[in-house]
Amino acid sequence: MEKKNKKLLLDLNFKQLQGLCLSLGQQKFRAEQIYSWLLLGADYEAMSNLPKSFLQQLEQSYLTQSVFLKTHQIAKDGTTKYLFELKCGGTVESVFLPNKYGNTVCISSQVGCKFDCKFCASALNGFSRNCSNGEILGQVIAVNRHKGGNVDKRAFCNIVLMGSGEPLDNYDNVLNFLHSILDSKGLNFSNRNISLSTCGLVDKIKKLADQNLGITLSISLHATTDESRQVIMPVAKAYSIKDILEAAKYYFDKTGRRVAFEYIMIKDLNTSHHDAVRLSQMTKQLSCHVNLINLNSVNERNLKGVDSEHAKRFCQKLLDLGVSATIRRTQGQDIDGACGQLRNKFV
Ligand code: SAH
Repeated sequence: MEKKNKKLLLDLNFKQLQGLCLSLGQQKFRAEQIYSWLLLGADYEAMSNLPKSFLQQLEQSYLTQSVFLKTHQIAKDGTTKYLFELKCGGTVESVFLPNKYGNTVCISSQVGCKFDCKFCASALNGFSRNCSNGEILGQVIAVNRHKGGNVDKRAFCNIVLMGSGEPLDNYDNVLNFLHSILDSKGLNFSNRNISLSTCGLVDKIKKLADQNLGITLSISLHATTDESRQVIMPVAKAYSIKDILEAAKYYFDKTGRRVAFEYIMIKDLNTSHHDAVRLSQMTKQLSCHVNLINLNSVNERNLKGVDSEHAKRFCQKLLDLGVSATIRRTQGQDIDGACGQLRNKFV
């Protein structure tokens, strides 16, 4: 069977993998063996503790790998950007971000993006499709393997769904992915170390809150009035800031987790005194933190960031107004691996 017509073992959760083993006449414990190999990113050839005939049977219909490393680039600061090909030919990018307090991997949830935010590169080549849960998990496994990690000693402790795509627009697959990485039989990540970033799909935020997974929710806010938000984020025509704040409050009430607001600082657009005051009024109503990010430039988009003095002043103003705010350090800019610079192209 051709590669593209085969299914992905990583799309199966542990229970489903057990079911597959039973249906092929094997005992349940084989699922555990296979799963631990899959989490290492191993191929069939490496699975030395499983019967050859069983592996041959599996190989006819299933792939062990869901993403295939095409190339990678390492920035001066050690940030590493990966380009992965998917079995049907599309590509996604992931980024490894080293940090002395714990490394992070940033992964993609869709091939391209539908939302076309005016500061971001991810939608520049349009939207192709959702990643399956196995394709999202595969990025985590492949980066971990590339950086010399294994299941017990992972190369990173944080996972952020902040690569290309809108995770909540691919809700079911993302949720399956989250279950699989939180699973004690799987990579067993802590919910505290997982962040999902959304452009603000209100209904889905509430749906996620009801799951009570306890992961960190980041909301891309980027403006303090609906009018200015609509200029840079087309999705703002569908959801008002008021609705977003209400959804954020709902998330906090349900999960007890403080919500993070992402706020890109864009020259002449969203960092006035009035913006600071409005931001403080909004965020007073709930337990949250504001992550300020200076805009990373994207060639095709003609927006600019602010100078670092202005950024510091804006942050200080927020602090003076009682907002919990910090400026996020940018990593990997020299390889277009920073926030918003991921695009679906060959590096
Ligand atoms: N669709 C999701 C996740 C992808 S973007 C979302 O909208 O949140 C992940 C983060 O990168 C978001 O906060 C996004 O607003 C930010 N980002 C996008 N483009 C950027 C740019 N050019 N500079 C800095 N941050 C950017």
